This record gives sequence, C-alpha cells and structure tokens, in this order.
Amino acid sequence: MTSTRRMENKVVAVTGAAAGIGRGIADRFAAEGAAVVLADREDSVHQTAAETARTSGNQTLGVTCDVTSEADVSALITATEDRFGRLDVLINNAGTITIAPLQDLSLEAWNRVLAVNTTGAFLCAKAAAPLIRRTSASGRILNAASGQARQGFIYTPHYAASKFGVIGLTQSLAKELAKDGITVNAYCPGIVGSDMWAYNDREWGRLLGDYAPGELMATWIEDIPLGRAGTNDDVANLLLFLASDEAGYITGQAINVDGGMFMN
Ligand code: NAD
Repeated sequence: MTSTRRMENKVVAVTGAAAGIGRGIADRFAAEGAAVVLADREDSVHQTAAETARTSGNQTLGVTCDVTSEADVSALITATEDRFGRLDVLINNAGTITIAPLQDLSLEAWNRVLAVNTTGAFLCAKAAAPLIRRTSASGRILNAASGQARQGFIYTPHYAASKFGVIGLTQSLAKELAKDGITVNAYCPGIVGSDMWAYNDREWGRLLGDYAPGELMATWIEDIPLGRAGTNDDVANLLLFLASDEAGYITGQAINVDGGMFMN
C-alpha cells in the first residue's frame, strides 16, 4: 500500500457499523489506512470487523455496543484505548426510524428513536471527547443527521425531531470543543439504499398509497436533481474530507449529501 492513503495512522470509531451506511464508511476509512473500531448493537459487527480487516489489510476492532447505554459506550471507548491507544475520529452513525401516523405513534417508539439518534450521539461524544483530546492533534466528531434535519417528513415526527436535534448538538459541541482542536460536523444523507430505506419504502408506501415494493422510493428518486439515489461511498467521501486535515477550518456545519434533494 502507498503512503498516500488519507487516514494512515488515524484511529476511527464508527457506530452502527454492522450494516448499511456505517459498514460502507468503515470499509472506506479502512481502505484509506485507518485502524477502525466498528461498533453496533448487533453481534454480527464482529464478523463485519473481521471482513473489513481482511479486505483492507488494516487492523479493526468489533465491539457490541448499544449507543443508548452509557455503560456500553464507556466500554467502547475503553476498548478503543486499550487496543489502539488513541482516537482521532468518532462517527456517530447509528440510527433508527419508525413510521406511524400521530395517533399510532407510541411514546415508547418516540423515546426509542430520540434515544438512539440523538442521545446516543451525545453519550458517544461525551465518552470519546477526553480520549480524542488527549491523543489526537486533529480530532473529529461526525454526526449522522438526515434530510429530515432540513424538513420533517409525514409520519416521522420523532425521527425529524431527533435529527434536527443532532444539528443542535453538533453546533453546541463545535463551540465547546473548538479549544481542544476538535471539530464537530453533521452529515445529511438523502436516500441511500439500506435496510432502513427498505423499511421506509414499505411503510411509507403502505401508508401513503398502494405502492409496489420500490415504487415509492423510485418516485422520490425521480425528483432528486442529480437523478439517482445516494451510495455509501457518496457519504464516505464527504466524511473522509471532513476527517482530513484539509477540513480543519470547518466546524459546526451540517452538510447535505443528497444529490440536491435539499438545498437548505
Ligand atoms: P440501517 O438501519 O441500515 O443501519 C443502521 C445500523 O445501526 C444497523 O447496523 C443497526 O444495528 C445499528 N444500530 C441501530 N440502533 C443502534 C444502537 N442503539 N446502538 C448501536 N447500533 C445501532 O441504517 P442506514 O440507512 O445505514 O443509516 C445510517 C445512518 O444514516 C442513520 O443515522 C440514519 O438515520 C442516517 N440516514 C440514513 C439515510 C438513508 O437513506 N439510508 C438517510 C438519512 C439519514
């Protein structure tokens, strides 16, 4: 491997890394030379971490971690320090969604979505910041927001609230952690094919009309100016830039990576 890999000598932790966008992010950061900690509530993350290590030739660590558990998150950061001695980049990617009309939306579902998407990012940032501060000269915290941090969609008030919340969290932490040389930014994907989007297509499709599988998603993709759905690589490309030294003067921002779906 050449020495031009952008993440050489960096340690990067990605939550929600067993599948979907998080797995794609972990793979790309590993391919760019990072040692990657893959965290997920699913035990399958250990298998994913082993596969990422095999394909990249880099070191990885898989950790079973529910980001809503302060104890799990604390253990994740301890395991990261024990294994790699440092942390440069935390990517708060874990997320979840449910879709329901207001009268069917339970308090439990509301609380769960807020807990994973917003509180989880808070807990991980809180636990990771001291290690990043001590061990990295150019620390980064990158938080998964969404197009739904720009505009709420129908039947997902809890998800929209959680992702608008991620932007507030991002701005506030960017101000507090700037003195430690840690930048904090959010990324807003539009439509990226994943288990989450398969669920979205099915449930919104059912509630908004009688759509065949994939039909609703196809309708929404037609309206994307760049004419296609996003990929894991589209998201990872943005994050690789935000994690790089070249992005050292960018903090407190939420950046859309959605083919122009949202322009605010
Ligand atoms: P996904 O559902 O396909 O994968 C999410 C991963 O997070 C899974 O591996 C899951 O096990 C893990 N996870 C869920 N809850 C967890 C918890 N409490 N602790 C640890 N891990 C947990 O989702 P995705 O489409 O890959 O989305 C990744 C992120 O991007 C999420 O934050 C999501 O809200 C956001 N996002 C996705 C899209 C999209 O189009 N797919 C669009 C906008 C934003």
